[in-house]
Amino acid sequence: MANQNEDIISYFQKLDRGFFMDELKEFAYMDEAIPIGHEQTISQPSLVLEMTVAIDLQPDVKVLEIGTGSGYQTALLAAFSDAVYTIERIAALHERAKERLKKAGFSNIHFMLDDGSTGWEEHAPYDRIMVTAAAAQVPRGLMDQLAIRGKMIIPVGTSLLQELLLLEKDEDGEIHKTVLEEVRFVPLKGKYE
Ligand code: SAH
Repeated sequence: MANQNEDIISYFQKLDRGFFMDELKEFAYMDEAIPIGHEQTISQPSLVLEMTVAIDLQPDVKVLEIGTGSGYQTALLAAFSDAVYTIERIAALHERAKERLKKAGFSNIHFMLDDGSTGWEEHAPYDRIMVTAAAAQVPRGLMDQLAIRGKMIIPVGTSLLQELLLLEKDEDGEIHKTVLEEVRFVPLKGKYE
Protein backbone atom coordinates (compact mmCIF):
# COMPACT_ATOMS: atom_id res chain seq x y z
CA MET A 1 0.00 0.00 0.00
CA ALA A 2 2.73 2.47 1.03
CA ASN A 3 4.76 1.38 -2.00
CA GLN A 4 1.83 1.78 -4.31
CA ASN A 5 1.22 5.32 -3.06
CA GLU A 6 4.86 6.13 -3.77
CA ASP A 7 4.48 4.72 -7.29
CA ILE A 8 1.37 6.85 -7.85
CA ILE A 9 3.15 9.97 -6.58
CA SER A 10 6.18 9.40 -8.78
CA TYR A 11 3.99 8.69 -11.85
CA PHE A 12 1.97 11.84 -11.09
CA GLN A 13 5.13 13.93 -10.85
CA LYS A 14 6.29 12.73 -14.26
CA LEU A 15 2.89 13.08 -15.95
CA ASP A 16 2.94 16.27 -18.05
CA ARG A 17 -0.34 18.07 -17.35
CA GLY A 18 0.33 20.41 -20.30
CA PHE A 19 -0.05 17.39 -22.62
CA PHE A 20 -3.74 17.26 -21.63
CA MET A 21 -4.41 20.91 -22.51
CA ASP A 22 -4.84 22.69 -25.86
CA GLU A 23 -5.14 26.21 -24.51
CA LEU A 24 -3.81 28.13 -21.47
CA LYS A 25 -0.86 25.72 -21.37
CA GLU A 26 1.20 28.39 -19.62
CA PHE A 27 -0.96 27.71 -16.54
CA ALA A 28 -0.54 23.91 -16.70
CA TYR A 29 1.91 23.79 -13.81
CA MET A 30 -0.17 25.82 -11.36
CA ASP A 31 -2.05 23.88 -8.70
CA GLU A 32 -5.42 25.20 -9.92
CA ALA A 33 -8.35 23.99 -12.00
CA ILE A 34 -7.85 25.53 -15.49
CA PRO A 35 -10.48 26.02 -18.23
CA ILE A 36 -10.34 23.49 -21.11
CA GLY A 37 -13.19 25.02 -23.16
CA HIS A 38 -16.89 24.16 -23.26
CA GLU A 39 -17.21 25.65 -19.74
CA GLN A 40 -15.24 22.72 -18.29
CA THR A 41 -11.97 22.55 -16.38
CA ILE A 42 -8.99 20.24 -15.97
CA SER A 43 -9.03 19.44 -12.25
CA GLN A 44 -6.51 20.78 -9.73
CA PRO A 45 -3.46 18.45 -9.77
CA SER A 46 -3.16 18.04 -5.99
CA LEU A 47 -6.83 17.01 -5.86
CA VAL A 48 -6.42 14.56 -8.75
CA LEU A 49 -3.51 12.96 -6.86
CA GLU A 50 -5.48 12.79 -3.60
CA MET A 51 -8.47 11.20 -5.33
CA THR A 52 -6.27 8.69 -7.15
CA VAL A 53 -4.68 7.62 -3.86
CA ALA A 54 -7.98 7.61 -1.93
CA ILE A 55 -9.79 5.33 -4.36
CA ASP A 56 -7.26 2.56 -3.60
CA LEU A 57 -6.37 1.27 -7.07
CA GLN A 58 -5.15 -2.32 -7.56
CA PRO A 59 -3.71 -3.98 -10.68
CA ASP A 60 -6.84 -6.14 -11.11
CA VAL A 61 -9.60 -3.55 -10.63
CA LYS A 62 -12.10 -2.34 -13.23
CA VAL A 63 -12.76 1.37 -12.99
CA LEU A 64 -15.66 3.49 -14.23
CA GLU A 65 -14.92 7.21 -14.62
CA ILE A 66 -17.64 9.81 -15.22
CA GLY A 67 -16.35 13.04 -16.79
CA THR A 68 -13.33 12.21 -18.98
CA GLY A 69 -12.70 15.92 -19.61
CA SER A 70 -9.06 16.35 -20.61
CA GLY A 71 -8.18 12.73 -19.82
CA TYR A 72 -5.67 13.74 -17.13
CA GLN A 73 -7.36 11.82 -14.29
CA THR A 74 -8.10 8.97 -16.72
CA ALA A 75 -4.36 8.46 -17.33
CA LEU A 76 -3.65 8.07 -13.62
CA LEU A 77 -6.54 5.64 -13.17
CA ALA A 78 -5.45 3.58 -16.18
CA ALA A 79 -1.82 3.39 -15.09
CA PHE A 80 -2.75 1.68 -11.80
CA SER A 81 -5.74 -0.51 -12.71
CA ASP A 82 -6.67 -3.29 -15.10
CA ALA A 83 -9.14 -1.32 -17.23
CA VAL A 84 -10.89 2.04 -17.24
CA TYR A 85 -14.32 2.74 -18.74
CA THR A 86 -14.63 6.50 -19.10
CA ILE A 87 -17.68 8.53 -20.14
CA GLU A 88 -17.81 12.14 -21.37
CA ARG A 89 -20.90 14.00 -22.57
CA ILE A 90 -19.15 16.69 -24.68
CA ALA A 91 -18.06 15.30 -28.07
CA ALA A 92 -15.06 17.59 -28.60
CA LEU A 93 -13.57 16.76 -25.18
CA HIS A 94 -14.27 13.03 -25.63
CA GLU A 95 -12.48 13.01 -29.02
CA ARG A 96 -9.45 14.97 -27.82
CA ALA A 97 -9.02 12.86 -24.69
CA LYS A 98 -9.27 9.69 -26.77
CA GLU A 99 -6.59 10.93 -29.19
CA ARG A 100 -4.25 11.99 -26.38
CA LEU A 101 -4.52 8.81 -24.36
CA LYS A 102 -4.00 6.63 -27.45
CA LYS A 103 -0.96 8.73 -28.32
CA ALA A 104 0.31 8.26 -24.76
CA GLY A 105 0.18 4.51 -25.41
CA PHE A 106 -2.75 3.41 -23.24
CA SER A 107 -4.62 0.35 -24.48
CA ASN A 108 -6.74 -0.38 -21.37
CA ILE A 109 -9.08 2.63 -21.64
CA HIS A 110 -12.58 2.34 -23.13
CA PHE A 111 -14.26 5.60 -24.14
CA MET A 112 -17.94 6.44 -24.45
CA LEU A 113 -19.63 9.66 -25.53
CA ASP A 114 -22.84 9.78 -23.48
CA ASP A 115 -24.55 10.91 -20.30
CA GLY A 116 -22.57 9.06 -17.63
CA SER A 117 -25.02 9.81 -14.83
CA THR A 118 -26.68 6.47 -15.55
CA GLY A 119 -23.34 4.65 -15.66
CA TRP A 120 -22.28 2.06 -18.25
CA GLU A 121 -24.49 -0.96 -17.63
CA GLU A 122 -22.86 -3.23 -20.20
CA HIS A 123 -19.58 -3.63 -18.26
CA ALA A 124 -20.96 -3.37 -14.70
CA PRO A 125 -20.22 -4.05 -11.90
CA TYR A 126 -17.18 -1.84 -11.34
CA ASP A 127 -14.67 -2.22 -8.50
CA ARG A 128 -14.05 1.52 -8.49
CA ILE A 129 -16.15 4.47 -9.68
CA MET A 130 -14.66 7.96 -9.95
CA VAL A 131 -17.01 10.87 -10.66
CA THR A 132 -15.26 14.13 -11.54
CA ALA A 133 -18.36 16.36 -11.86
CA ALA A 134 -20.61 17.47 -9.01
CA ALA A 135 -24.03 15.91 -8.38
CA ALA A 136 -26.83 17.03 -6.04
CA GLN A 137 -27.06 13.42 -4.89
CA VAL A 138 -25.39 10.13 -5.69
CA PRO A 139 -26.98 8.78 -8.90
CA ARG A 140 -28.77 5.51 -8.07
CA GLY A 141 -27.53 3.74 -11.21
CA LEU A 142 -23.93 4.36 -10.21
CA MET A 143 -24.58 2.94 -6.75
CA ASP A 144 -26.13 -0.16 -8.35
CA GLN A 145 -23.16 -0.58 -10.72
CA LEU A 146 -20.65 -0.52 -7.85
CA ALA A 147 -19.35 -4.03 -7.05
CA ILE A 148 -19.47 -5.60 -3.60
CA ARG A 149 -16.38 -4.31 -1.70
CA GLY A 150 -16.22 -1.55 -4.34
CA LYS A 151 -15.31 2.08 -3.72
CA MET A 152 -16.69 5.23 -5.27
CA ILE A 153 -15.50 8.83 -5.07
CA ILE A 154 -18.01 11.53 -5.95
CA PRO A 155 -18.46 15.25 -5.17
CA VAL A 156 -21.99 15.81 -3.83
CA GLY A 157 -23.58 19.17 -3.02
CA THR A 158 -24.61 22.44 -4.64
CA SER A 159 -23.04 23.98 -7.74
CA LEU A 160 -20.89 26.20 -5.50
CA LEU A 161 -19.62 23.75 -2.90
CA GLN A 162 -19.59 20.00 -2.52
CA GLU A 163 -18.43 17.34 -0.11
CA LEU A 164 -16.06 14.88 -1.74
CA LEU A 165 -17.47 11.52 -0.64
CA LEU A 166 -15.77 8.14 -0.45
CA LEU A 167 -18.49 5.48 -0.55
CA GLU A 168 -17.63 1.87 0.21
CA LYS A 169 -20.02 -1.02 -0.43
CA ASP A 170 -19.53 -3.85 2.07
CA GLU A 171 -20.19 -7.61 1.69
CA ASP A 172 -23.86 -7.11 2.55
CA GLY A 173 -24.29 -4.32 0.04
CA GLU A 174 -24.40 -1.66 2.79
CA ILE A 175 -22.83 1.69 1.93
CA HIS A 176 -20.32 3.34 4.27
CA LYS A 177 -19.66 7.02 3.70
CA THR A 178 -16.56 9.09 4.51
CA VAL A 179 -16.36 12.82 3.79
CA LEU A 180 -12.86 13.47 2.42
CA GLU A 181 -12.99 17.26 2.05
CA GLU A 182 -14.86 20.23 0.60
CA VAL A 183 -14.39 20.75 -3.12
CA ARG A 184 -15.73 22.69 -6.07
CA PHE A 185 -16.25 20.73 -9.30
CA VAL A 186 -18.18 21.71 -12.43
CA PRO A 187 -21.73 20.27 -12.42
CA LEU A 188 -22.73 16.81 -13.58
CA LYS A 189 -25.29 17.38 -16.35
CA GLY A 190 -27.64 14.61 -17.31
CA LYS A 191 -30.55 12.47 -16.23
CA TYR A 192 -29.29 12.43 -12.63
CA GLU A 193 -27.66 15.78 -11.75
N1 SAH B 1 -11.18 14.74 -14.67
C1 SAH B 1 -11.40 15.75 -15.66
C2 SAH B 1 -12.46 16.69 -15.13
C3 SAH B 1 -13.16 17.41 -16.18
S1 SAH B 1 -14.45 18.49 -15.59
C4 SAH B 1 -10.12 16.50 -15.93
O1 SAH B 1 -9.33 16.68 -15.00
O2 SAH B 1 -9.89 16.93 -17.06
C5 SAH B 1 -15.83 17.38 -15.55
C6 SAH B 1 -16.20 16.74 -16.86
O3 SAH B 1 -17.43 16.04 -16.64
C7 SAH B 1 -16.47 17.73 -18.00
O4 SAH B 1 -15.68 17.38 -19.10
C8 SAH B 1 -17.96 17.54 -18.28
O5 SAH B 1 -18.31 17.71 -19.64
C9 SAH B 1 -18.19 16.11 -17.83
N2 SAH B 1 -19.56 15.76 -17.51
C10 SAH B 1 -20.51 16.49 -16.86
N3 SAH B 1 -21.66 15.79 -16.75
C11 SAH B 1 -21.44 14.60 -17.34
C12 SAH B 1 -22.24 13.43 -17.57
N4 SAH B 1 -23.52 13.37 -17.14
N5 SAH B 1 -21.70 12.39 -18.21
C13 SAH B 1 -20.41 12.43 -18.64
N6 SAH B 1 -19.59 13.49 -18.48
C14 SAH B 1 -20.11 14.56 -17.82
